[in-house]
Amino acid sequence: MAESVELPSRLGILPFRNKVLLPGAIIRIRCTSPSSVKLVEQELWQREEKGLIGILPVRDAAETATAIGPVLSQDVGSDSGERSSRVHVGASDSHRLDVKNQQENIHWHTRGVAARALHLSRGVEKPSGRVTYIVVLEGLCRFSVQELSTRGTYYTARISPLEMTKAEMEQVEQDPDFMTLSRQFKAAATELISVLEQKQKTEGRTKVLLETVPVHKLADIFVASFEISFEEQLSMLDSVDLKVRLSKATELVDRHLQSIRVAEKITQKVEGQLSKSQKEFLLRQQMRAIKEELGDNDDDEDDVAALERKMQSAGMPSNIWKHAQRELRRLKKMQPQQPGYNSSRVYLELLADLPWQKASEEHELDLKAAKEHLDSDHYGLVKVKQRIIEYLAVRKLKPDARGPVLCFVGPPGVGKTSLASSIAAALGRKFVRISLGGVKDEADIRGHRRTYIGSMPGRLIDGLKRVAVCNPVMLLDEIDKTGSDVRGDPASALLEVLDPEQNNAFNDHYLNVPFDLSKVVFVATANRLQPIPPPLLDRMEVIELPGYTPEEKLKIAMRHLIPRVLEQHGLSSELLQIPEAMVKHVIQRYTREAGVRHLERNLAALARAAAVRVAEQEQAVPLSKDVHRLASPLLENRLADGGEVEMEVIPMAVNNHEISSAFRIASPLVVDEAMLEKVLGPPRFDDREAAERVATPGVSVGLVWTAFGGEVQFVEATAMVGKGELHLTGQLGDVIKESAQIALTWVRARATDLKLAASEGISLLEGRDVHIHFPAGAVPKDGPSAGVTLVTALVSLFSQQRMRADTAMTGEMTLRGLVLPVGGVKDKILAAHRCGVKRVILPQRNLKDLVEVPTAVLANMEILLAKRMEDVLEQAFEGGCPWRQHSKL
Ligand code: ADP
Repeated sequence: MAESVELPSRLGILPFRNKVLLPGAIIRIRCTSPSSVKLVEQELWQREEKGLIGILPVRDAAETATAIGPVLSQDVGSDSGERSSRVHVGASDSHRLDVKNQQENIHWHTRGVAARALHLSRGVEKPSGRVTYIVVLEGLCRFSVQELSTRGTYYTARISPLEMTKAEMEQVEQDPDFMTLSRQFKAAATELISVLEQKQKTEGRTKVLLETVPVHKLADIFVASFEISFEEQLSMLDSVDLKVRLSKATELVDRHLQSIRVAEKITQKVEGQLSKSQKEFLLRQQMRAIKEELGDNDDDEDDVAALERKMQSAGMPSNIWKHAQRELRRLKKMQPQQPGYNSSRVYLELLADLPWQKASEEHELDLKAAKEHLDSDHYGLVKVKQRIIEYLAVRKLKPDARGPVLCFVGPPGVGKTSLASSIAAALGRKFVRISLGGVKDEADIRGHRRTYIGSMPGRLIDGLKRVAVCNPVMLLDEIDKTGSDVRGDPASALLEVLDPEQNNAFNDHYLNVPFDLSKVVFVATANRLQPIPPPLLDRMEVIELPGYTPEEKLKIAMRHLIPRVLEQHGLSSELLQIPEAMVKHVIQRYTREAGVRHLERNLAALARAAAVRVAEQEQAVPLSKDVHRLASPLLENRLADGGEVEMEVIPMAVNNHEISSAFRIASPLVVDEAMLEKVLGPPRFDDREAAERVATPGVSVGLVWTAFGGEVQFVEATAMVGKGELHLTGQLGDVIKESAQIALTWVRARATDLKLAASEGISLLEGRDVHIHFPAGAVPKDGPSAGVTLVTALVSLFSQQRMRADTAMTGEMTLRGLVLPVGGVKDKILAAHRCGVKRVILPQRNLKDLVEVPTAVLANMEILLAKRMEDVLEQAFEGGCPWRQHSKL
């Protein structure tokens, strides 16, 4: 610390722009401007330790007065009783000064601080060669400027010291005011130091200052270390009076203390919040330890431990158990808040939930009981049931036999799914259905790898988890509806599933360990065979369910559907009766389908309507007391004796009207035609449709095959003025477009033979366009089997002859008029039968397919076989083909 120093009368001046050096402060500056470099060189560098300079604050002063002249002038005034002087620097003089000063007016402060260099270092800038100094300066004591002048490139000032002499000091120290002030200051300073030391966890060193350094110097030292404004720094510099200086310093120290306290409070708050979760974690750890000590683990059990126990009892094979343990160890090391924790847990839960060994107990298979079961669940389907029994018999003899996978193929609602569940019931196993319709992503079958966000196991593993046994009957529903796209081919994953050689180690990507599927009994269903990839089809045994005849549907409805529907709606045959005639009506006029799903739905609609009526009546009865009394014994009797009660009770009646209203709830509601119309709406189909459609020439009746089984479809043709073009509409594929072209060509080529044109060479299409339309717009149509239908429509159009309304046809035709066989004959004949068609024209070579058609259907139908197109035309028109005898064919 600087002792009191002898100041020379002149000092080289280093201006500090907007900054103040207070006595006792130490700062490090870098001098680069020529004037300051010169000053440091001459006043400090060359004089070494004896060198002193004056640091004078200057302030930018836009408002400063205009230039006064080349010579520095002095304007000494009195400022609040203290002496002060103002020196203005003229602009014209500035070329000798700092470059900056040339542009701006600056305002010199009249008091400064003498400083000495504690450390000096000189450097040469490259490549300019400019000399710079780095100086560590220590402020020593205040002075006031008497006069400012220039020496070379820098300023010098004539100065007078402002510090008190020793005698003056001693006198002041006796002043009681000063003593109080200095005590206050010291108290504040002590507090500040202790706060700072506490914060920085250092001790003792700063406190020594308080004891050794005189208080007026301490004031400067403290204030110098604060970040305060330039104005405050100036006023501190100006506080030559010790009392003023001390009170200012005390105020600043207090302020600093306060700001430290506020900052501390804020950090404490933030820290408190941050450490809440850590605190929670610690508390949990402690709680766990305490529980362990108490042996108190049972209630509110640690769920990881529960998971571990579940895993232990899951019966995993040893290699998988090792893998699971590894994963569990990883989980245990994780915090629940950690990102991977949850996914790891979900994965382990899956491992623990999967039925690695758990199986439904297989009892001795009783074939007779199985047959009875199948018969009681399903009407008809004799061949299908027979095949299922064979399948079961093989399983009975050789339980681990790897027989083929059964695949039921047929239109919707023919009982494929319910047959599969019957198989499960017959085997005494659980049943799980996995819907594959619309599955395009291989990951749906095999799962996503766990590296993906939101990854899941595939549907098979998920199904097994749901069913919780490893030997269920698993139905792969709608296996023909899987598609493949960029995300892989689900069918190839299914290949692995269905292959008995591979499926004992099925690899789900999510599971990442092999799972044995060999105990699962797979059954598949499909609407059509074509979309199933051949390798997949190869692994399955196809059992076709073609659809039902109306008679079969009636039986199914009476025996199976109606009892089930009634039960589902809380009704019984005592409350609702649907007579056979009405069921027939529903079959013929409200549904036209191969299966019985719509039928079931319509029956359910009737049951709902009946349920409303019954529920309403039940409420209505208690309103009349008499009726109620009357009704009660009636009902009780009914309950006791079944349905025969009604006749005995009537004679007891006093009032016939009351009796009849009481009976309204007791007697069953019988469905009649009026109710059918009210509930189901007007009939949707009737047998007159074909007759009405073919009432005009140019329309023919064809039989097509769709995913819903066979269907009757009409082909319409018309001609109009045009350029001989062929227009086709109605959701057509390429094959059917070609068939239409062939049909037109054939008709045109035979125009004269068929008496469609007067003589050979006259084109039928001269000046005319032909438009062929396949109605039933939404159904896509393709396949060549419409060939004969197209020709018939065209012949009908050009000859203006109507086709027979009771006849439908199917068959492919060659360009030369040969009729080729087609597929789906059975479905098509059933469809024709459903629609009330009496005659069906078939290609001759489809004769063999007729054995599959139920005889009941064939008995009601006339099947006409055609070899050539002419045979078809012969049968299609009333009175045969009138042009035949004239033709040269
Ligand atoms: P699919 O799977 O072929 O589309 P479902 O198995 O779902 O058809 O059958 C539809 C409904 O028809 C089921 O309620 C089923 O019990 C019933 N069903 C179908 N065929 C028969 C049948 N032959 N005997 C009894 N009920 C049948």
